[in-house]
Amino acid sequence: CGIVGYIGYREAYPIVINGLKRLEYRGYDSAGIAIYDGDDLKVCKTKGKVSDLEARVEKEILTKGSVAIGHTRWATHGVPNDVNSHPHYSNSGDLVIIHNGIIENYESLKKELITRGYTFKSDTDTEVLINLIEDVMKKEENLKLGKAVQIALNQVVGAYAIAVFDKKKPDEVIAARLGSPLAIGVGKNEFFIASDASPFLEYTKNAIYLEDEEMAIIRLGKQIKVRKIKDDSMVDPYVQELQL
Ligand code: GLU
Repeated sequence: CGIVGYIGYREAYPIVINGLKRLEYRGYDSAGIAIYDGDDLKVCKTKGKVSDLEARVEKEILTKGSVAIGHTRWATHGVPNDVNSHPHYSNSGDLVIIHNGIIENYESLKKELITRGYTFKSDTDTEVLINLIEDVMKKEENLKLGKAVQIALNQVVGAYAIAVFDKKKPDEVIAARLGSPLAIGVGKNEFFIASDASPFLEYTKNAIYLEDEEMAIIRLGKQIKVRKIKDDSMVDPYVQELQL
């Protein structure tokens, strides 16, 4: 299972699809991608290999756009099929998530969300998390995505590496980790997110490795902000220079 994301000025699709191929060694049963083309957010996902995803994306959706998040899934909750594959949308269709790991308390969170009117397409724990984030955002006006992700993660028991995108705030991606690896490649006016640095080594040698219980607010034109998930303190991110 693996995660690859890009936000910047290049075409994101080839970066993400080739990155997913580099992470194939991690094992997976399905793959998917969300691409923001400057106007709309498109998701394509499938049971099977990254090459199956590639065939489908190129047939079904535009590959244009300079923001994308991609995922290879190793199913833990819900059988491997197209619907359970990531990315997962929130009910509004604005938010999208990719997730490696397990949300252990997803059943109780899901029950609560259902009583609040949320519906679920998949059997995954992940779709619960993205709707929890949406619910947090709806409860408080003008709450920033990063803050909403943080509040939601504090209600979650489990392990995760996630990337979250809001098509209403398309200059930003939120990443967080607890128990699953996550590296952020820092380029010039562009950022990469990946389970390990191999998907972005050809573009930048500068990487921040998130520690457990840290999240990153990755915004175009801004410095990356890293903060603790639990206690809100800021972390001065250590930008490592990778050697080949
Ligand atoms: N628990 C999630 C699922 O089953 C993510 C699994 C993974 O790590 O790929 O969909």
